[in-house]
Amino acid sequence: MLKDDIFLKIINKEIKSDLIYQDKYVTVFNDINPKVPFHILIVPNIYIKNMNDVKNNHLIILGKLLLTASKIAKLKKIDKSGYRIIINCNEHGGQKINHLHLHLLGGCYLGKMLTI
Ligand code: AMP
Repeated sequence: MLKDDIFLKIINKEIKSDLIYQDKYVTVFNDINPKVPFHILIVPNIYIKNMNDVKNNHLIILGKLLLTASKIAKLKKIDKSGYRIIINCNEHGGQKINHLHLHLLGGCYLGKMLTI
């Protein structure tokens, strides 16, 4: 539910986060429970529940999410060693927070890890 959206509260600074970057379209912060040495979340500033809800009018935001991931990976110097981007969707995808987000993961060899 929108009013319980913890990521919107982070975006609007109603609750604290370890903020890395924010612009008109996206907000980036460290995952509170990192699964690997480098684990951040890249989140659209508007509410989109998950990949099932993306529409044509979200094209710029979707592009910004990936572009931001690429830029932050370079900035944090994990681009050369490599990284992984994960988007979980609904129950089988393991989505816990109902606000679309990219996990950007790196800092170690990720192997064939399937969940995050
Ligand atoms: P998912 O399972 O794809 O919905 O991922 C949700 C992620 O959000 C998990 O990796 C959590 O550790 C992370 N998370 C939950 N609450 C917070 C928070 N307040 N600040 C930062 N990350 C959070």
